[in-house]
Amino acid sequence: GTPLIRAEKLRVEFRGRSGGKVRALRDVDLEILEGETLGLVGESGCGKSTLGRALLRVIEPASGTIDFLGLNITRLRGTRLRRTRADLQMVFQDPFGSLNPRRRIADIVAEPLLRARGVSKAEAGPIVAELLERVGLGAEAGPRRPHEFSGGQRQRIGIARALASSPKFVVADEAVSALDVSIQAQVLNLLSDMVRERGLTMLFISHDLGVVRHIADRVAVMYLGQIIEVASRDDFFSGPAHPYSEALLSSVPSLRPSGRRERRVLEGELPDPANPPAGCLFQTRCPFAEAQCRTRMPELRTVAPGRTVRCHLPLVTGPAQPSPVEKG
Ligand code: SF4
Ligand code: MG
Repeated sequence: GTPLIRAEKLRVEFRGRSGGKVRALRDVDLEILEGETLGLVGESGCGKSTLGRALLRVIEPASGTIDFLGLNITRLRGTRLRRTRADLQMVFQDPFGSLNPRRRIADIVAEPLLRARGVSKAEAGPIVAELLERVGLGAEAGPRRPHEFSGGQRQRIGIARALASSPKFVVADEAVSALDVSIQAQVLNLLSDMVRERGLTMLFISHDLGVVRHIADRVAVMYLGQIIEVASRDDFFSGPAHPYSEALLSSVPSLRPSGRRERRVLEGELPDPANPPAGCLFQTRCPFAEAQCRTRMPELRTVAPGRTVRCHLPLVTGPAQPSPVEKG
């Protein structure tokens, strides 16, 4: 497929508690293809949300570029940024925290449409009513306020709002994580149906690998601000190539790749992000680490068609049906 959005050497830095710079994104290279849902996984604090927000131009990168449909949007400001933002929308984790309690649902949903597309309130009315129908709330939800709705309903409102401006790219950041498990599947199905109907491209951020397997076409894994693996959903879940991906999967009994029944416990310390070690950032927890891992940072390289991995000793080195070599 063609890339809709492409990050190149994207770097985001925050000031750490001790005053030093913490690199939240370490030169991230990532392509998200038109029409796909890319699942972005990794432990909390690894930079998933930062990457999502940087791609939406909510936070400005220290360096690197973001290319959206052939346009470099990295330094856009003012009107041009506002117009571009209409194409880039977000579904948040906490539906309650992200909906203004004093506003009517219709106004909340219409907001990105009015602000980014310059549509009048009158023109927005029917679009909003149709969206509220589509997400299963009905147009009668319009005059009501967020507290009158359950968590799952509020997340439907959040989806309607994100799609109101007819964006091309949506970032869903832990979009169902705050919901009861019984509600998660319904909201997830609604989101994926709407994404498909409208031909949207989605970055689906989640710490929940089961949910990602359900919704994603491809999977990208982050660790300490780096992308460490990208693979198709099936390749990833049938045999991850990076030792960290394998550890993540092995921690979920139902997702353990066949033939790998043992849980791989991650031992060792997470390095101080303000002061990471030389070489591979995963070396302090990797069961396979050897001398070169402590001196040379592995590049993100292609090991099989459609598979990239940042590891000197990847667990998968060929195309489909990998036979992983167990080391150590
Ligand atoms: Fe482990 Fe070395 Fe691969 Fe890093 S490069 S993940 S330390 S084997
Ligand atoms: Mg997060």
